[in-house]
Amino acid sequence: MDWLSFAAKGLTGSPLWLVVLYFALVTQLTIFAVTLYLHRSQSHRGVDFHPLIAHVFRFWAWLTTAMVTKEWVAIHRKHHAKCETEEDPHSPQIHGIGKVLFHGVVLYQQACKDRALIEQYGTGTPNDWIERNVYAPLPALGPTLMALINIALFGAIGLAIWAVQMLWIPVLAAGVVNGLGHWWGYRNFETSDTSTNLTPWAFFIGGEELHNNHHAYPSSSKFALRRYEFDIGWVAIRVLSFFKLATVLRVAPALSERPNVSIPDMDTVRALLTHRFKVMGDYFHGVIMPTLKAEAERAEGQMERLRGKFRRALANDGRWLDEASRERMRTWVRERPALARVMEYQRSLAATLERSGRNGEALAESLRAWCDEAEKSGIAALEAFSRRIRGYQLVGA
Ligand SMILES: [Zn+2]
Ligand SMILES: [Zn+2]
Repeated sequence: MDWLSFAAKGLTGSPLWLVVLYFALVTQLTIFAVTLYLHRSQSHRGVDFHPLIAHVFRFWAWLTTAMVTKEWVAIHRKHHAKCETEEDPHSPQIHGIGKVLFHGVVLYQQACKDRALIEQYGTGTPNDWIERNVYAPLPALGPTLMALINIALFGAIGLAIWAVQMLWIPVLAAGVVNGLGHWWGYRNFETSDTSTNLTPWAFFIGGEELHNNHHAYPSSSKFALRRYEFDIGWVAIRVLSFFKLATVLRVAPALSERPNVSIPDMDTVRALLTHRFKVMGDYFHGVIMPTLKAEAERAEGQMERLRGKFRRALANDGRWLDEASRERMRTWVRERPALARVMEYQRSLAATLERSGRNGEALAESLRAWCDEAEKSGIAALEAFSRRIRGYQLVGA
């Protein structure tokens, strides 16, 4: 074989379809190494892998991302602990969406330099011989090896594949998930951050698309929580556990509804506390939105339409708006008595569920009072909502 044909076809001389298949497999494997191993297993302990599988992921992450397990885990845990504050390593609310989306890697590298952060949040990650002598001190060696392998297999096109491989995680994880996943999409849960689900069918970024679900239940190894949602990472976990190569440690508890529960009991309290983000999300969709619609119908097209940004802000009382916009939103609400009332009920329900450190019986008592008032309010959507949450209970937890 001469050099020219080696450069064109590599050692294998593979046809194009095989090259494309290779590309699809290696990028998917990188995504899995990050979402399954670094994220769901190492950072959140939602699932355990057989040592062999765990090491394959670890090796592959080193080979294709140059990221060190301890650093990734520490930065990610800090993101959850300090979400959307100055200390969040990559919040688009703080750094701006452009910065996180296009320069997420820079933010990641800055955070890596903070060794106190890495030590504080990176506990429990691998610290064996190969970690101390190869993976951690020689992060650039992995991608270098990967480049040589690709060139040997496919020649020049192998190098092109390598270049895209190297961009895969910086663009999709650091940019798209960390940036857009706190910026654009839908929310099932009123979590105390701005996380969003990008698409209900999550197969492109390993399930990480369902980022709002993940923030609601960080240690759940399953990200799809609604009937119509799909998480390819969870499928991989199920397949591996079928072959006894993975052990699921935690999944989000499910919620069921008991009919004809007349007053909230301790089961209701437990379910509402566990699912309070969902409850507040349901309140927005089931009570606030219909009230808004009814107002608009009453005004018969005379009412100025509330812009999307403000409409969404009603879900959390304008928490993420700037001061001036929040005041505008509140003035707008005050001028509409029915809406103002359901917003008032929203605030008191949120306050009830957020008050921690109280005993369950006291909480049940304030819930009963809330339901009692809600059901006498004369607002149909509110009454229906109250009757429904009375019967909530946890299943399979
Ligand atoms: Zn996040
Ligand atoms: Zn996480």
